[in-house]
Amino acid sequence: MTLRPLILISNDDGVRALGLRTLALAVSAVADVVVMAPLEEASAKSHALTLARPLRHRLDRVEGGVEFHSVDGTPADCVYVALFKADFLKRPPSLVLSGINHGYNLGSDTFYSGTVAAAREAALRGIPAIAFSLGQGGQFEQAASSAKLFVDRALANLKAMPLLTNVNFPPQPDHLGFRVCRLGRRSYKDDVYLREDPRGHEYFWIGGPPTAHHEPLEGTDTFAVDQGYCSVTPLGLDPTADGAMADLATLLR
Ligand code: MN
Repeated sequence: MTLRPLILISNDDGVRALGLRTLALAVSAVADVVVMAPLEEASAKSHALTLARPLRHRLDRVEGGVEFHSVDGTPADCVYVALFKADFLKRPPSLVLSGINHGYNLGSDTFYSGTVAAAREAALRGIPAIAFSLGQGGQFEQAASSAKLFVDRALANLKAMPLLTNVNFPPQPDHLGFRVCRLGRRSYKDDVYLREDPRGHEYFWIGGPPTAHHEPLEGTDTFAVDQGYCSVTPLGLDPTADGAMADLATLLR
């Protein structure tokens, strides 16, 4: 009897999030699935690790044969604990998934995203990982069935998979298929909202309105989802700006 592949799933919206549940249950049709996700929502935590306080791991629930575990930390903490806590996984995972995030992770969102970071944490350990996100207002069932299709293809040809892949589903019910593209440009209206607490002290809330402007650049993820495609972007693990090295060396000569 051949073992089914093992897939580890995390997210940044928390262990009770609908996107996570829908993805885990869909993928459990083709693989053994274990979930390790943040106890609380941890969106925009990027790749933070919790090093200055203890972490607690607990089994949240078992649903559809899938164990949903939580760690009271960040998305990257969750993947780190799942991969390195002795005897947590019975065998090395073939693939690590993150999501499905509630909302897009396009363009520069990928720097802030805890969803992408959970996947990156696995990729840094040499395990292929895919981050999935769904545009606001989309149906998770539909996105999860497309994610399952992607996972089927990946499992059938893991050697062809990049270590880190970022996928975004448009919210409309019938997307036009997958489109491999580069990161686009997403600009938010930045703002700091000032308020006063009941004791007269100032507090503020960062991040402007959730809507973002997408530059309509052909071949980018922002353009692909705006056109109704699922964007698929391989992300590198080495952010060195090769083109700037010679100029910097000259500047410092
Ligand atoms: Mn999120």
